[in-house]
Amino acid sequence: MKKLAMYVFIDALGWEIYERYGFLKEMALNERKLRTTFGFSSAADPSILSGRYPDEHTHWSCFVHDPQNSPFRGMQILAKLPGFIFDRWRVRHNISKLIKRIHSYTGYFELYTVPFQYLPYFDYLEKKDYFIPGGIMATDTIFDWCVDHDIPYYCSNWRHNEEQILHENKQVISEANAEFVYVYLPKLDSVMHNNGPYSDATKAKLNDLETKITDLYRFAQKLYNEVSLYVISDHGMAPVTGSYDIKSVVDRLGFDFGKDYVAFYDSTMARFWWKDTRVKAAVLDTLNSLDCGYVVSTEELKRLRVWFPDPKYGDSYFLMNEGLLLNPSFMGLKVIPGMHGYHPDAPNSYSIMLSNREIPADIQSITDIRKTMESELAK
Ligand SMILES: [Zn+2]
Repeated sequence: MKKLAMYVFIDALGWEIYERYGFLKEMALNERKLRTTFGFSSAADPSILSGRYPDEHTHWSCFVHDPQNSPFRGMQILAKLPGFIFDRWRVRHNISKLIKRIHSYTGYFELYTVPFQYLPYFDYLEKKDYFIPGGIMATDTIFDWCVDHDIPYYCSNWRHNEEQILHENKQVISEANAEFVYVYLPKLDSVMHNNGPYSDATKAKLNDLETKITDLYRFAQKLYNEVSLYVISDHGMAPVTGSYDIKSVVDRLGFDFGKDYVAFYDSTMARFWWKDTRVKAAVLDTLNSLDCGYVVSTEELKRLRVWFPDPKYGDSYFLMNEGLLLNPSFMGLKVIPGMHGYHPDAPNSYSIMLSNREIPADIQSITDIRKTMESELAK
């Protein structure tokens, strides 16, 4: 009796998009709206694989304030060179590749648009690839669990493109040896970032994914007696309705970046580390007067399970309202039509689980996905 648990991960396939356009409806799969974790994919993906919240698995944002361990020390000199050379995306991407090679990082690494003069204040979190066993230091992942339980599995190579990934999964399934495959499909996320979640491009991409997933599932059915299909995602995607230049608001207060405070401007939130309590009070006062977002309290950070005793991710967080972007930010210099990273309870933040199996009532959050994996594989 050969059984396969096939988990198809679709980056950013949110509940709202599913409600609007439908997905794999012909297969009449069971459906569940799942709550995501606060933050970006760098927090949500480890939450799925570990079945734990960020305050337990310790992965949250990619850039952390840690000048002592910064791999970018000395890079501020690049800021003195003409910006038209170094600020181009391709050039920054090549510098990212070089840093990655020098430091032997195996995880996803990108410099985005973090200004060179600020880079030495930060360290980069994802040095190791957490899709391979031992990738998360603080806890195990489902892949560690498979190794411990001698379960043959296959996890897609996220460095490859979607076509390659599907081909490689088919290859693995054709051998009918793996009991668990993690099919990683990243493309919908970029389609929605660039076109907006409610767009013809999204609809076309969903049709394309439906065909490909149905094909892979039917193929697996020929080789296995039983195939459990789960379609999962990390978070949704909100349509962008406007932007606000938080960095200029803070800059205008005239404090010294590095001496008075340090800030990291993500696409949907600004994080601050304070060197001076008067500066903290002045900046927070100003931020509290804005209506584009709010300063998240410590109590709420704890409730959202993203509070850490070591403030490497930030002392204070300013979160934008759903649909608003920080622009410019350290993650990009233009306003794009779709974004995620808002409050987990914002309507477009919710993620999804679809399955040809019953989904137990206690599966409510992306941190519960792992429970379904373990129970599938324990049978
Ligand atoms: Zn994304």
